[in-house]
Amino acid sequence: MTQESLHCDIAIVGAGPAGLSAAIRLKQLNPDYHVCVLEKGAEVGAHILSGAVLEPSALNELFPDWKTRSAPVFTEALQDDFLVLTSTRSVKLPTPKPMKNHGNYIICLSLFCKWLGKEAEKLGIEIYPGFAVTDAIFDENNKIIGVKTGDMGLDKNHEKTSRYQPGILLYAKHILLAEGCRGSLSKKIIAHYQLDKSNKQISPPTYGLGIKELWEISPDQHQLGKIVHTVGWPLDHHTYGGSFIYHLENHQLAIGFVVGLDYQNPYLDIFEEFQRFKLHPKIKPLFKNAKRIGYGARSLCEGGYQSLPKLDFPGGLLIGDSAGFLNVPKIKGIHMAMKSGMVAAETLHQGNISTYQANLEQTWLWQELYAVRNIRPGFRWGLIPGLILAAIDTYLFSGKAPWTLRHKIPDYASLKTAQNSKVINYPKPDNTITFDKLSSLYLSNIHHDHHQPNHLILKNPNPDLVTYNAPEQRYCPAKVYEIHQERLQINAQNCLHCKACDIKDPFQNITWTPPEGGSGPDFSGL
Ligand SMILES: Cc1cc2nc3c(=O)[nH]c(=O)nc-3n(C[C@H](O)[C@H](O)[C@H](O)COP(=O)(O)OP(=O)(O)OC[C@H]3O[C@@H](n4cnc5c(N)ncnc54)[C@H](O)[C@@H]3O)c2cc1C
Ligand code: SF4
Repeated sequence: MTQESLHCDIAIVGAGPAGLSAAIRLKQLNPDYHVCVLEKGAEVGAHILSGAVLEPSALNELFPDWKTRSAPVFTEALQDDFLVLTSTRSVKLPTPKPMKNHGNYIICLSLFCKWLGKEAEKLGIEIYPGFAVTDAIFDENNKIIGVKTGDMGLDKNHEKTSRYQPGILLYAKHILLAEGCRGSLSKKIIAHYQLDKSNKQISPPTYGLGIKELWEISPDQHQLGKIVHTVGWPLDHHTYGGSFIYHLENHQLAIGFVVGLDYQNPYLDIFEEFQRFKLHPKIKPLFKNAKRIGYGARSLCEGGYQSLPKLDFPGGLLIGDSAGFLNVPKIKGIHMAMKSGMVAAETLHQGNISTYQANLEQTWLWQELYAVRNIRPGFRWGLIPGLILAAIDTYLFSGKAPWTLRHKIPDYASLKTAQNSKVINYPKPDNTITFDKLSSLYLSNIHHDHHQPNHLILKNPNPDLVTYNAPEQRYCPAKVYEIHQERLQINAQNCLHCKACDIKDPFQNITWTPPEGGSGPDFSGL
């Protein structure tokens, strides 16, 4: 079977808010542009997982008339609560300025992306769901001139089966990488062009892992538009993280837990911390007569301003979470993903891609990211010092403190050895409010042909399972990694595409690569 090759003006990898906003802006600027968007999910939105509270700044700029376009943006944020938890009590503090949500909306990002995708198609943008981009195509001058999608229909030994179809070569004048957090091609391109070493000041990127559930709760527990964030219990004061609880339409509750992947104890299990959190006396009543209807997990970028790599490379640009545009104290990246996509489009239209960063620096995105740069690294001294430093930075210096705190080490280097760490014993699930990983997975609607090659690549197939007591068993929220007879077994078909293993493995032994296009979870509606 011959390999198909296609040509377009701009190829965009990833149909999230960044990729779709870039595509739409390009067509708004010039309806004649031939724009193609490649998406690894079986449909737009299938692999999109977020909180999500939308700050509508970028949406207002992209579609000033979005309210008349049936955008799935209905639930206005009406109340913000910020709680510090101990194991039995909760203390309500004034909501920190960055976490105030007046004027924002609680949305389902997966449905929002489906809507953006439809708007994009109305403008003539070609979207190809089910196509996972695996590689870039370079010319003889080391410039990217296209991308390649993965082969379909290979078996476990990479032999061709009867449904074999070679990947497509998509050539383009420019490529926009919009793969979201820890994009697999973005990671290769950043390393290839050493974009993270272009400046000595760039800190290692740092990440968090978010676990999310969607519940239908009893009307007497539901308060439409209410937003609650918590910090503290069940995490110790040296582990960064907390919960989000969003009351959205149809008596639904989006509830989740995010933990910084710079945690130190290899026995920590983020999924289990979340399950335990739901039993807190302040939280538990929410689940009276309630039903869990969705489950998923996804990593998010926490490095902020000081971890941004060089944003342009020969032939293309990094946008959205592929670059790391996320306001960590706000836990908001959607507006930044959209805005960076729009600025990338405007930069391509102007004709000189090397002006992308300078163009971004003229926008609210850059000012906003710069202003919160010291908040996340301030928590390395613990929860209370972190909150105090955040208050000083926000209220005393208005984000303009004359220093920038760096992230010192990458997340994979932060674990203490098992010998020097305390074992954590988690309670057994009650199967009403708390669950185990396997019974949660069926709510992620995973489709994955298990005959395909393993997409989780080990450099060393017999890794050291002793020094850190095989933490992949715990940080993976999908029970992909299990130890059987002292060997690592990989249940690749469970993978939620969260990318935590690629980030956190202490030996950097695991590389996440895209499985066959269309494989993976379906987070539609989550
Ligand atoms: C738990 C959690 C809660 C959050 N809460 C909020 C919130 O309340 N408000 C907020 O503003 N932000 C929130 N965020 C952050 C926000 O979701 C992200 O910043 C935003 O989604 C980034 O958009 P993006 O387009 O860059 O990437 P993504 O939304 O991740 O989209 C990337 C797309 O690219 C596709 N893709 C990736 N690799 C490939 C490939 N190789 N080939 C083809 N397709 C590919 C993916 O399948 C996906 O569809 C949250 C994030 C998490 C994880
Ligand atoms: S295998 Fe890796 S990417 Fe897949 S769910 Fe587990 S940690 Fe996430």
